[in-house]
Amino acid sequence: MTDRMAIVGAAVVTPLGVIEEGIVLCEDGRISHIGPAGEGRGIDPEPGSVIINAAGKILMPGFIDTHFHGSGGDDVMADGVEGLERIARSVLRFGTTGFLATTIAARHDELLRSVEHTITARREAKGGAAILGVHLEGPFMNVSFKGAQPEWGIRDPNLDECRELLLAGEGLVRIMTLAPELPGGLDLIRLLVEAGVAPSLGHSTADYDTALAAIEAGATRATHLYNAMSGVHHRKPGLASACLCEPGIQAEIICDGVHVNPHMIDLAWKAKGPRGLTLVTDATAAQGHGDGIYTLGDFEIHVRGPLCTLGDGVTIAGSVLTMNRAIGNAIGFTGMSLVDAAEMASSGPARVCGVADQKGSIEMGKDADFALLNPDFSVDRTIIGGVVAYQDVTSRAIQ
Ligand SMILES: [Zn+2]
Repeated sequence: MTDRMAIVGAAVVTPLGVIEEGIVLCEDGRISHIGPAGEGRGIDPEPGSVIINAAGKILMPGFIDTHFHGSGGDDVMADGVEGLERIARSVLRFGTTGFLATTIAARHDELLRSVEHTITARREAKGGAAILGVHLEGPFMNVSFKGAQPEWGIRDPNLDECRELLLAGEGLVRIMTLAPELPGGLDLIRLLVEAGVAPSLGHSTADYDTALAAIEAGATRATHLYNAMSGVHHRKPGLASACLCEPGIQAEIICDGVHVNPHMIDLAWKAKGPRGLTLVTDATAAQGHGDGIYTLGDFEIHVRGPLCTLGDGVTIAGSVLTMNRAIGNAIGFTGMSLVDAAEMASSGPARVCGVADQKGSIEMGKDADFALLNPDFSVDRTIIGGVVAYQDVTSRAIQ
C-alpha cells in the first residue's frame, strides 16, 4: 500500500491554465507537485507510486455539486443516513467528489430530521464523495413559483424555524434558497448572513427593485437561474434579469439543455462570466438510474432520457443531469474554456462550501480530489484524497 500517486500525461486544468501534457504527484492525500511531463522536463514519480497513465485525458478538480437531491435511486431526504451514504458513492461515477445535500419544502420536523441525517452521514463518512453540508431549498419560497416543490411544505419566513435548522446543521448549512418578496424575507436574509450562510434568491416572483433590496440586505446567490423565478422581460425585468445584471450575484445554472435553452445559457455566460455562474445538477434520485418512475417528496417523477417531469409530462421536476455532462454541455453551448468550467464546477462551489483552502482546484497542497475525463467528458476515474474511488469498467478492461 502506497500513499503516493502520479497522474501522467493528462491535460491538467489548473486555475492558471491548462498544462497540455502534465504530471501531478500526490502524497498523503494532497497534491505535492504539478508540472509538465516528459523526459527531461518534469520530475519523476517516487519509487512505489501508483502511476496512472492518463495520456489523452483531461484532469480536472473533483466536481462539487451545490444543488443536488439524490442519485442512484436514493433521495437525500427520503432514504435516511444509509441513503446518503449510497448517494455519496453513486455520484463518484460522475466525477463528483463533494456535494451539498439539498432539501425541498417540507414540514419543520421533516427538515430538521433531514439536516440531522446529513450531519450524521457526514460524521460517519464511509468513503464516497464528501458531504460538505446542506443546501436548504426553501421552505420559505413563493408558492407561485413552487416548481416541483409540495405546496403544503411552503410557507412565509419564520426566523425561529430558520435558527433551529441552522443549529441542527452545526455550522454546515451553507446555502438557503428563499423568496425575498415574502413578509420577513429581508430579515431572513440578514439572519443568514449573520450566521455565515449564503442567501440564494429563487422560487420567487421578485421584481428588479425587490432583488436589489435583497442584494442590499446580503443576498449573494441565485438558485437555478431562469427556472422558478420572474424572468427576463424588456419592460418588466424580473429576478432573472437582476441575476444577469448584478455582479454581486453568483447564479446556479442547470446545463442540461432542457431546463434552460442553450442560447439563454450563452447569454448568462456572456453577462456573468465564470465567477458569476455555478454549475449544478438539481439531480433527483433518478440520476444515473435509467428511465422510470421515481419519487421527489410527494410527487412521482417520470424520467425519459434527459427529461424529468411530473406525471403531466410537462412540469420539469429536478433533473437527471450529472456534473461531467453539465461541463460538456456548458462548453458546447458557450465555447468557454476548461479553466472557466473548472471555476464553475469546482472552485466557486468550494468557496460557498467554505472549503476553498483544501478543495476545488488543482493547486499545490490541496486535497488530491480529481475527475479524470475522456475527451467526450465521460468519466474515466474519480480520485479522492489520492486514491482511485471510481474507475470506468471499460477503461479497466483495457489496462
Ligand atoms: Zn432543487
